Amino acid sequence: MKTILVTGGTGFLGSNLCRRLVDDGHKVICMDNNYTGRTTNIGALVGCPNFRFIRHDICEPFGMDEHLDQIYNLACPASPPAYQGKHSIATTKTCVFGAVNMLELAKTHRATILQSSTSEVYGEPLVHPQTENYRGNVNPIGIRACYDEGKRCAESLFFDYCRHEGVDIKVIRIFNTYGPNMDPNDGRVVSNFICQALKGEDITIYGNGSQTRSFCYVDDLIEAMVRMMNSRKGFTGPVNTGNPGEFTVRELAEKVIALTGSHSKIVYKPLPADDPTQRRPDIALAKAELGWEPHIRLDEGLQKTIAYFRREIAAPAAAAE
Ligand code: UDP
Repeated sequence: MKTILVTGGTGFLGSNLCRRLVDDGHKVICMDNNYTGRTTNIGALVGCPNFRFIRHDICEPFGMDEHLDQIYNLACPASPPAYQGKHSIATTKTCVFGAVNMLELAKTHRATILQSSTSEVYGEPLVHPQTENYRGNVNPIGIRACYDEGKRCAESLFFDYCRHEGVDIKVIRIFNTYGPNMDPNDGRVVSNFICQALKGEDITIYGNGSQTRSFCYVDDLIEAMVRMMNSRKGFTGPVNTGNPGEFTVRELAEKVIALTGSHSKIVYKPLPADDPTQRRPDIALAKAELGWEPHIRLDEGLQKTIAYFRREIAAPAAAAE
């Protein structure tokens, strides 16, 4: 049994990871400021003897008496509507100050620390599919920069702490992920389309819907995270983690309409600035080093996610927190 800190633990990925680690028999400390996370996501874990929630903003330093073996650093708003606008500065601070504080904690405890980086480090990619050695094409002054550049800076901090402070780091670059515990109101494409379809509202495609994304079901992604954390000593990554199946946003809308049996109609809205045109991970490195590849196909994952959102919409107390 290991003692494991998960920052961003009440968020979509964090709460799914906490559940997995508790099920695996570890002692889990879940940390979040609940800025975009929701305590309802960990409702079933509260009360488990091996699970504890600490409300804390990782922008502030954090000391722990209890020895930590591993830290998963997931804390950060991840949905474009959440990290753009008035919360953009907090997003960069979380990426940068949060990384420093968690790396210092890892150094003190000699813990292995995993950084949840992102496909956004590739920006508007000029290489397709994206391999880890591609250095990206990011607009440093655009509305996505707080997240893209924040995550790029966090990667830089991780590698400097590894080189100069001997911290045992692991870096994954997460591509679009979906599944239970997504916030129905967080504005991302999968949550928006499913909720719109279930409520009979118009499905809002931004732009003409020809932009592509690769969607990974959450259980596959969590498996990659756990494998990366426990990968061979000295293997730092970065490693792409995502599903290489690539779909246009319009194809996604049509799938959601078919799978929900909805009568919603598709409407077109302006494309936000700097919205990447295409995105697909090359996962050869994850296959070779982690023996990992996703197994859940988009239709199957969407069905599970639709079932989750049906419950969320029917239980407004959970959805409204
Ligand atoms: N998108 C859309 N309708 C929505 C929400 C998003 O067409 O209601 C588009 C968005 O412009 C982008 C893609 O779907 O091209 C994925 O958006 P999301 O916010 O989920 O994640 P991103 O990959 O942009 O970080």
